[in-house]
Amino acid sequence: MLLEIHNLAVEVEGKQVLKNVNLSIAEGETHVLLGPNGAGKSTLFMTILGFPKYHVTNGSIIFKGKDITNLSTAERVKLGMGVSFQNPPAIRGISVENLLKYESGQNEEDELNPRMKSLADKLKFNDDFLKRDVNLGFSGGEVKRSEVLQLLAQRPDFTMFDEPDSGVDIENVELIAEELNVILDKQKKISERKRAGLLITHLGYILNFVKADKAHILMNGEIACSGNPDEILNDVRENGFKGCVNCAQCTQ
Ligand code: ADP
Ligand code: MG
Repeated sequence: MLLEIHNLAVEVEGKQVLKNVNLSIAEGETHVLLGPNGAGKSTLFMTILGFPKYHVTNGSIIFKGKDITNLSTAERVKLGMGVSFQNPPAIRGISVENLLKYESGQNEEDELNPRMKSLADKLKFNDDFLKRDVNLGFSGGEVKRSEVLQLLAQRPDFTMFDEPDSGVDIENVELIAEELNVILDKQKKISERKRAGLLITHLGYILNFVKADKAHILMNGEIACSGNPDEILNDVRENGFKGCVNCAQCTQ
């Protein structure tokens, strides 16, 4: 297993948001996390990344066989974690280009390496755009594409995507999905696939282009149901989250 979460309970600003989360993701797998607004999906991501506001009151997080529950965010990132945020902050004074250089281990004085340059082109960012401050005045779609570009620079072994398709038009969802597939090693044969991920999606449209191995529904601070992504998504569309987690399979 690449990531194992055991009986995780989390408090944010004095409020219990997660109470008993169990989740395991193996190398090469992509899992989807679904759930109503406010269920705690983003909280789970922030906790896996170790943001200080998110207090683990019970349970543990194991990454690459190591207990990381008490490690700093920087240490977790060094171990190979990455994230594309739902609402990342703007960073005044730091250009997209310089951030990409930092993330791909380049010096600021050097030209952006050709690999990153061509990936930026692919994600429709021209030279002028790369000179802009990170996320400052970006449109919803530009923010999401910029998050994906940064992940392509970092090449994490485990990546969390928090609603990479929200606020993005259909054409750009396909573009983002293509790069998610690169980040998740989908171009490789299953037996050779190493990189893994966890994807939060609100509408599920992106799953037409990114194939997931397993889906989970987070409700009331717990994983209420897990299973085949297509079946779960259909059930949610027909019966809503409540109806889905009350199905025979989940209440057995
Ligand atoms: P989701 O991503 O599933 O929509 P969130 O994890 O963002 O849900 O939020 C879950 C609950 O935790 C919400 O009630 C939200 O208000 C609360 N919460 C999350 N982060 C914070 C925070 N930094 N400060 C206060 N409350 C928070
Ligand atoms: Mg969220």
